[in-house]
Amino acid sequence: MALIKLAKLGIQPEIFHTLQGEGVSMGVPSVFVRSSLCNLHCKWCDTAYTWNWEGSKWDHEDKKKYSKDDYIVELETSEVAELVADYGCLNVVLTGGEPLLQQPAWLAIIEDLRKRNAAYRFEIETNGTQLPDEHIAAAVDQWNVSTKLSNSGNSAKLRIKADAMEFFAASDKAWFKFVIQNEQDLSEVQQLEAEFPIPKERILLMPEGRDEETLQSRRLWLADLCRDLGYRFCDRLHIQLWGSKRGV
Ligand code: SF4
Repeated sequence: MALIKLAKLGIQPEIFHTLQGEGVSMGVPSVFVRSSLCNLHCKWCDTAYTWNWEGSKWDHEDKKKYSKDDYIVELETSEVAELVADYGCLNVVLTGGEPLLQQPAWLAIIEDLRKRNAAYRFEIETNGTQLPDEHIAAAVDQWNVSTKLSNSGNSAKLRIKADAMEFFAASDKAWFKFVIQNEQDLSEVQQLEAEFPIPKERILLMPEGRDEETLQSRRLWLADLCRDLGYRFCDRLHIQLWGSKRGV
C-alpha cells in the first residue's frame, strides 16, 4: 500500500478537471492532481498552501501561513487513481508543490491508470531540482520544467541542481518554462541555456503574475522579446479565465 500527500481543498484532495493553463499543452483538457510539499519557497508562489507552514521562516508576498492539518490530505495511490479515472479524461497533469518529492507514489498512480487504459498520458510539472528515477523517467510523457530564477527569492544553491538540470536539458520530453518579471531576468535564462545546455526551441517565457492586471502589464514587452530572441511565449490561461480561484 503506497500513500501520497496531496493538497487539500476544503475536505477533498485537490484533483480537478480543467484545461491545462500553461506551457506547450495549454488548452488541453486535463485532470490535475496537486501534491503537497515543496523544497523551494518562491515569494510569489500561487500554491503556498503546499509548503508555507505555520511556524516556518519562509517569506511570501501574501504573508499568510498554513496549517498542515488543514492543507494536507494523505490518500492511498489506488484511491487517487480511482478519482482520476472517474473523470474519463486521458491527459493527466501531476503538479504541486513539487511532485518529484514523492516519486514512488506517482509511479504507482501512473501504473494503476495505465492498466485501466494504456492511452493515458502524463505530464509532470516540476521545479527542476529533483532527479527523476529511471522508472518514473520512462513512465512520464512530458516534463514541464519551471526552473526558478533569482526573482523567486530562493538561493541559487537551492533552485539550481546540476544533475537534474542536465537530465531535463537532455530529455526530448522536457520543456522549460521560466517565470519572467522584468527584462533583467533574461540574462539568467541565457546563462542557464548556455550552461546545461537547453535547446532554445524548448524554452518558454511566461510573465509572472497572479492576477490579470499584473499579467497584462508584462505580456506585451515579453511577447516582443520572445519574437525577437526566438523563445516561445507562454501565457497563464487559467488566470485569464478564472483568476486566482483554486480547483478550476
Ligand atoms: S517551486 Fe513551485 S510550488 Fe514550489 S514554491 Fe516555487 S512556485 Fe511554489
